[in-house]
Amino acid sequence: MARYELDGRTAIVTGAGAGIGEACAHVLSSNGAAVLVVDLDEERAENVAGSISNNGGTALPHVADVSNLDDVEAMVARAEEELGPLRIAVNNAGIGGTSQPTGQYDLDAWRRVMSVNLDGVFYCMRAEIDPIGRAGGGSIINMSSVLGSVGIENSPAYVASKHGVVGLTKAAALEHAAEGVRINAVGPGFISTPLLEENLPAEAQAQIATLHALGRLGTSEEVANLVVFLASDDASFITGSYHLVDAGYTAR
Ligand code: NAP
Repeated sequence: MARYELDGRTAIVTGAGAGIGEACAHVLSSNGAAVLVVDLDEERAENVAGSISNNGGTALPHVADVSNLDDVEAMVARAEEELGPLRIAVNNAGIGGTSQPTGQYDLDAWRRVMSVNLDGVFYCMRAEIDPIGRAGGGSIINMSSVLGSVGIENSPAYVASKHGVVGLTKAAALEHAAEGVRINAVGPGFISTPLLEENLPAEAQAQIATLHALGRLGTSEEVANLVVFLASDDASFITGSYHLVDAGYTAR
């Protein structure tokens, strides 16, 4: 396993109470970062932060809804006050939404998906970019999906929001490169997490697994291993791009 030099760096991970965000929080910590573990669910945030602390890392649990601008600003302020100047942010929190075709898609479901998946990433970057620039630079990683570059039936809000995350990442990266803020998007294939397990029956998961050239679902750690690389100075020439970790899903 590669080891990156993140000692003394403060990181925020949203949606870190479960799945991919939880794995990102652990891997950033095991490479030396102090992590604000942000989730909607207080108990989950406490469990993940507690587990990091038990392993000798530095982590604080924090409750925030990324679709709420006040919550997001308070989240960044807390990270800076209690952990130190912000250098890394993983804007990971996201939801799947209901399963319906565009012609019948529920309006409230559309707004909720866009407010968490797209407004949430915008609010986070808006609050994080200046502090990271003031700290001397750093890295923002926005969690998109393979569905940030291809479509799928019956998830129009999710697909649109994840394409939006890719576009927003590119625009912000161009604007803030001069401040030393690198901004990238990650596009996982289908990953075995609570989000997937709660939204898809086992037969559907097995069928989706076959759409990856490697013939299986991914793990959260396999996504976190890409995120920690992008967070590190080893990725110093990488900004404004969209990085797939999809076992060949989009190669077809
Ligand atoms: P997950 O298992 O549902 O974990 C996400 C965590 O984020 C949950 O603890 C959730 O809390 C929290 N969360 C949800 N809405 C939030 C909000 N508004 N503010 C703060 N926290 C919030 O999801 P995951 O599968 O790890 O997915 C993480 C990210 O990866 C998402 O952006 C997702 O779209 C993306 N992604 C996932 C896959 C996949 O196959 N799993 C593939 C590609 C991309 P609650 O459970 O209480 O809502």
